[in-house]
Amino acid sequence: MSTETGTQSTATTSDGQHSFQAEVRQLLDIVIHSLYTDKEIFVRELVSNASDALEKLRHLQLTEKDIFDENLSPEISITTDETARTVTITDYGIGMTREELAENLGTIAHSGSKKFLQALDETHQKEANLIGQFGVGFYSAFMVADQVQVYTHSWKPDGEHLMWESDGKTGYTISEAPGQRRGCKIVVKLREGQEEFAKKERIKTILETYSSFVPFPILLNGERVNNIEALWLKNKSDVTEEEYTEFYKFTAKAFDEPRYRMHFSADAPLEINALLFVPRENQELWGFGQMEPGVSLYCKKVLIDDEPRGLLPEWLRFLRGVIDSSDLPLNISRESMQDSSLVRKLNRVVTKRFLKFLDKEAGNDAEKYEEFYEKFSRFLKEGAATDADHTEDLAKLLRYESSMTDSGKLTSFADYLTRAKDGQDKIYYIIGKDRETIEAGPYVEAFKARGIEVIYCFESIDDYVMTRLPEFDGKKLVSAGQADIDLEDAPDTGDQAEPLAEEEVTKLCDFIKTELGEDAVDKVQAGKRLVESPIAALNPDTQMTPQMRQMMKAMNPDDSLPPVKVTLEINPRHELIKKLAATRESNPELAKAVIAQLYDQSLLAAGLLESPKDLIRRGYELLGKALG
Ligand code: ADP
Repeated sequence: MSTETGTQSTATTSDGQHSFQAEVRQLLDIVIHSLYTDKEIFVRELVSNASDALEKLRHLQLTEKDIFDENLSPEISITTDETARTVTITDYGIGMTREELAENLGTIAHSGSKKFLQALDETHQKEANLIGQFGVGFYSAFMVADQVQVYTHSWKPDGEHLMWESDGKTGYTISEAPGQRRGCKIVVKLREGQEEFAKKERIKTILETYSSFVPFPILLNGERVNNIEALWLKNKSDVTEEEYTEFYKFTAKAFDEPRYRMHFSADAPLEINALLFVPRENQELWGFGQMEPGVSLYCKKVLIDDEPRGLLPEWLRFLRGVIDSSDLPLNISRESMQDSSLVRKLNRVVTKRFLKFLDKEAGNDAEKYEEFYEKFSRFLKEGAATDADHTEDLAKLLRYESSMTDSGKLTSFADYLTRAKDGQDKIYYIIGKDRETIEAGPYVEAFKARGIEVIYCFESIDDYVMTRLPEFDGKKLVSAGQADIDLEDAPDTGDQAEPLAEEEVTKLCDFIKTELGEDAVDKVQAGKRLVESPIAALNPDTQMTPQMRQMMKAMNPDDSLPPVKVTLEINPRHELIKKLAATRESNPELAKAVIAQLYDQSLLAAGLLESPKDLIRRGYELLGKALG
């Protein structure tokens, strides 16, 4: 009897017989029945598994003394046999124990396959081409095979000599197979109709497409097919566009063409060779959750870590490619990576270089940059809001709509400043749901009347960006809804109504303040800002913006936040305010109801109204009164 596997989801049915985890069966069913035309990717998947296994062995050799079958050369060998209709892939990597066979090839641990299933769930369609986008790892062999055998011996000296075998339907067997060398030998028995993959030339073409950069020799029927080329160490002028693109596809396991590419080398303060790519698509927009960092760390062509955390800032997780530094110790462990001051230095140097690169690209081809920005702005904003080391450089890359752009067109802070008025020492912005909402509110009109541009921000993260970004080019960033903004008088257009007499204004302001109470308003004043609107609530608290309030409330609905307190600015030229001043004496009760209503409406426009229920009820009452 074979021993149990340690995973609950596979069951041993009889001697050596196991059934697949339900998700594996589901995946296999799709793989086998899909009409996916690029069946050839199974070669890439198996070769990349072999390469991973060799890489893992290389790491183990740094620390483990006792390794089974020690002196095997680190290579991948592939043989084709047209008569037997098989293709066999052999590596001398780490191999697998009995438990690992059941765990790795009987259940889904592999993130690509998981994402694949999740994507199917989300789109509710058996879209065959998704297989190509994700690669489904080992199981892709069943697109072409009706039987797969995995002969293996683990690197562990006490490992068994084993053979895993399956027809890819319901389950698999694990049996003893004496005489294995270390690593894995995978025999793919091709199903009828798939004979092409037993032809040497066919496999050769596939290997050239997908596996040129595999950092181990690949032998096809004894002949070397790949010439390991660390593209990132070559001179730019010696690399062709096609080579770059192939390299990107290989390292990023991608199927698209990269959007941007940055290839650079530096000698000081560290020796660095880096080749970085921005993919075409932002997968996070597809709802697959956070991307994993995708820039691998090498030291003199030897892979140290293919998903190193801390090598680049979190917000650069969309980048793909390679960073190679010969200054790194080869045996740096994954755990100590993040603490290494060398890695921190690499991080700083490469990040700075990349931001400079983007800025230059934006200048060279604004349209291309905007396409990039549309998909990837979230990452730049995340950086600007969270990464104090790079806010200044990131600010140059941000783009927003504004009161002076057409709808949907973006501008940079730098461009904003070219349009700023003489002596304007601030950059004004406003946060709102969209352009229409912002322009319908009371905040922008004062700036428009004075010919001052206001940046429009539509995303909640913008609030954090703007508060973390105190200045751009020495100009302070100021919210247009802030209370303490001192604007010059608007130019007289001649058609403005007469304002309410000053004495009346003072009386009305006092009346409003008494009516609303000190807890709700800290000041009521006549202002120069308003043009079209009768009233605006201004935020005296520069630390806690209305958007932050909303977010805190959303996150902790039960926590009580300090009560809202605003500065109210009234417009003494507005008809409504003039009438209110008169009504204050003739019908104080009605005036009070109108004040309460105006106050609630101003909070609503500011995004500070906690509940609309009073506003609605009072609205009906006032309408009733208006109709007599
Ligand atoms: P992935 O390689 O993306 O993790 P796969 O389905 O291709 O997913 O493989 C699942 C697991 O099986 C691998 O993570 C690895 O642990 C193991 N495996 C596959 N091929 C080999 C191999 N040639 N040598 C050792 N382990 C392997």
